[in-house]
This record gives sequence, C-alpha cells and structure tokens, in this order.
Amino acid sequence: MGSPREDAGAAPPARVLVECWSCKAVIEPSDRYCRHCGTGQGADVGWYYTPWGITVLTLLLLGPFALPFALKSPKLTPTGRRAAVVLIAAYTGYLAWGCWRLFHQLQLGGSAGAADLMLLLGRP
Ligand SMILES: [Zn+2]
Repeated sequence: MGSPREDAGAAPPARVLVECWSCKAVIEPSDRYCRHCGTGQGADVGWYYTPWGITVLTLLLLGPFALPFALKSPKLTPTGRRAAVVLIAAYTGYLAWGCWRLFHQLQLGGSAGAADLMLLLGRP
C-alpha cells in the first residue's frame, strides 16, 4: 500500500493467519484446534456444531436449548442459520402444543385421557 517498489524484496513474506471461529483469536491455518480456547477448527469442529448434530440435539435432547449451537456453528451459512432458528422455533412450538394438549387431556382424566395420550404418542 503505497510502499516504494524497492522495498518489495525486503518485505517479510505474507503470513496467512486465520481467526478462530469461536474466540476470534489469531491462529495458524494449520492449527486443528485453537491455541487459545481449544475449539476444533475446520474438519475438527465438534459434531454438535454440524447440521446433523444440531438436528439430533434438538430432536432428542435439548429442544430449544440447541439454539446456541445453531447460532454459533461455523458449519452453517447465514441462510442455514436462519433456517435452523425457524425450524427450532417451530419444533419448540410443536412441543409446547403437545405439552399443552397432554396437560389438558390428563386434566380430563380417566380412560379417555389415556387413549388420547396414546394418540399423541402416535399409537392407534
Ligand atoms: Zn479459539
């Protein structure tokens, strides 16, 4: 940037440095894990940050609490991140609706409540 042409030979070779996606510290491109926070980089990103990992966490374990993984994931594009937020919100709404229905049916009590519980669980 505006430096004289004769200085070009003396300039140190350009070092390519990358940022840790998690803590933003500067690391070497060859680092598989961040030297500062220990987070996996590139192919070594934890499974829970992959689209499938986030799906499994949402459906089987965390529900809406999987949202931070989706928001932080380096494996998702901004569009993918927005889609994940919408899908997790929709799934959370579905869970809330299911809980409300279950609560309502249990309040009715008796065998009708049990039959509806089985329907809710997808068994005829
Ligand atoms: Zn880091």
